[in-house]
Amino acid sequence: MEEPVELPLKEVLPGILMFTLPVDYGIDHVNIYLIRESEGWCLFDTGADCEAARALWLRALEGPLAAGLTRIIVSHHHPDHLGLAVWLHERTGATILMREEERTVAGQTHVPSADDRAYCIDFMCRHGVAPEDAQQVVGGVLQSNMACAVPARVEPLEAGQTLRIGEHVFEVLVLGGHSIAQICLYAPKLKLLLTGDQLLERITPNIGVWPYGETDPLPRYLDSLRTIATLDIEHVLPAHHDVYHAGVKRAHGLVAHHQKALRKFMARLGAGGMNATELGYAVYGAQSDPLHAYLAMGETLAHLLWLERSGYVRHEETPAATRWYPVTAAGEEPTLTLSGDMSR
Ligand SMILES: [Zn+2]
Repeated sequence: MEEPVELPLKEVLPGILMFTLPVDYGIDHVNIYLIRESEGWCLFDTGADCEAARALWLRALEGPLAAGLTRIIVSHHHPDHLGLAVWLHERTGATILMREEERTVAGQTHVPSADDRAYCIDFMCRHGVAPEDAQQVVGGVLQSNMACAVPARVEPLEAGQTLRIGEHVFEVLVLGGHSIAQICLYAPKLKLLLTGDQLLERITPNIGVWPYGETDPLPRYLDSLRTIATLDIEHVLPAHHDVYHAGVKRAHGLVAHHQKALRKFMARLGAGGMNATELGYAVYGAQSDPLHAYLAMGETLAHLLWLERSGYVRHEETPAATRWYPVTAAGEEPTLTLSGDMSR
């Protein structure tokens, strides 16, 4: 018989474990974290609901995590974070703590009704996604990948709330942009930040406008980076890839990334106007995969809304389409800083 592979569970700081679980769509893994309490383990994020992740969880709960779970904190509604919350709650009885807005969006992301599907397809087509691509995204990836069991009830978490977890004290941060109200936990004494997807080192967190959820994400994401940049951080515990240390530097790096992106969108926006997908393709290149076309549309819209609010672009609506035009008198290029007003 084959030896079972070692559990991908390691102590990253005393009493704090990182559990790296497989994900069966998009990215191949997610890190979730466990913090020791006297009665068991407090969990931060749960993993995606796939066979391989469930099998690892079962082994962990019979082995090193046999003390059980005390609480299940879910950073945001994306299925690699929320996916196993209900299943783990049913197995362990642990309470789920999550923002109510995230719970609501979790119920919308997989477009459960025919009306939702029609609305989503209309939204994508209005912004230039080809109808067959929109059909494929809505009928395929949104329903298969974004669907996960949504808790019927959650205990809310408030910004600024203090959570005592085992011997550590964490401050609850509620940060927008990547998701409508993502929870990050900051432990000032440890100089530690549990980020979910808000601040990743090797990936730029996805900031987009979708048919549901966050409606103007870039200013809120930049605000969140501003908040993070004020913290004293030595350990960043992210949802993807390794633990890292330069959290504040990364926040600055992400601001620079979005400034560069804003300038690119400005530079490529033709005087005759473009829809979001055309502009996205002009910046990112044409996307043959329908999902990538959808992601390009969402990211482009997020940047266009920032540019419009700051006076660089304007839009015109017809019954079927939204087109964007440069404001020629706008002058200088967009500049973002981490202090003061980020728009003009
Ligand atoms: Zn996410």
